[in-house]
Amino acid sequence: MPIDATQAYDDNNIFARILRGDLPSNPVYDDEYAFAFHDINPQAPLHILVIPKGRYVSWDDFSAKANDAEIAGFIRAVGHVARENNLVEPGYRLLANIGQHGGQEVPHLHVHLFGGQFMGPMLARA
Ligand code: 5GP
Repeated sequence: MPIDATQAYDDNNIFARILRGDLPSNPVYDDEYAFAFHDINPQAPLHILVIPKGRYVSWDDFSAKANDAEIAGFIRAVGHVARENNLVEPGYRLLANIGQHGGQEVPHLHVHLFGGQFMGPMLARA
């Protein structure tokens, strides 16, 4: 079920538990502002999730409330992960689902990073 992007932060959401180390993950990057790990159900040859360390439900919450250092740190981490995985050439796709119409399932901001093949059309046709 997609979540409401304006809901209060839930400290027991699955990515909060991964950040705390309560649940296992397959990490690829970790710094002060961001953590990146492989998606459990990959939709491309390479499918990495990059999440901020802070308690932000969605892109909306993060862009409104995070401080400049958190925003810069998170954005830089996404770029770093792409470069480290040799994705800049031939290219890759970033995706952030927000709320109901975005189809966001996990209520902790995450950017999907897809790579390893041509990603096809930007959106599935209805
Ligand atoms: P959303 O639909 O919220 O944008 O994407 C949530 C993503 O989280 C999905 O791609 C899903 O496969 C992934 N996911 C859900 N639970 C887990 C988990 O426990 N571990 C990992 N690594 N990924 C998860």
